[in-house]
Amino acid sequence: MLILEVVMSTIKIHDREFVKSIPSEEIAVRVKQVADRINRDYAGKRPLLLGVLNGCFMFVSDLMKNLEVECEISFVKFSSYQGAETTGVVKQVIGLSESIEGRDVIIVEDIVDTGLTMHKMLETLKESNPASLEIASLFVKPVRMRVPVSVKYSAFEIPDRFIVGYGLDYDGLGRNLPDVYDVKE
Ligand code: 5GP
Repeated sequence: MLILEVVMSTIKIHDREFVKSIPSEEIAVRVKQVADRINRDYAGKRPLLLGVLNGCFMFVSDLMKNLEVECEISFVKFSSYQGAETTGVVKQVIGLSESIEGRDVIIVEDIVDTGLTMHKMLETLKESNPASLEIASLFVKPVRMRVPVSVKYSAFEIPDRFIVGYGLDYDGLGRNLPDVYDVKE
């Protein structure tokens, strides 16, 4: 039985094996905790959630379902990862189409790794004079941070390990997994 469970919690994506590390139930609890904090902090306001595609889609969907404050959503897209290695190059793929001047903006990201993506994003968005600008990220890897980025709302701080699932991919696959998996060393 134990062996069966171990086998069941290991998956293969492309050439790599991954081991289940965070079950969907635990993710749901943490996402709700983040939403509760936002509900408190933004009471009486109407925040604009700015989802960073592609990885944010599951997180932002579950987060928004738990928000009780009036809120809106829009998306931008950056790309800095190819497979399991960062390129160190951050590119904006899809820009923001609406004005964020005077808005309370919450950037919603799947994972902050080196911080380069969020650093660039903050710099860009600040030029449009939002009333406030914060980051909500499902995961943060503090030991990987290369530029100082303040993540006000994070659900999990994780070690330096490549993860997939719950919106995060490995070369395009794995985003559909409800649980999160660590790459097997
Ligand atoms: P950063 O610019 O902070 O180094 O990287 C942010 C982006 O890199 C994330 O939005 C995500 O797309 C990707 N990324 C960073 N770490 C991981 C990881 O462990 N797994 C996956 N699937 N993507 C990651």
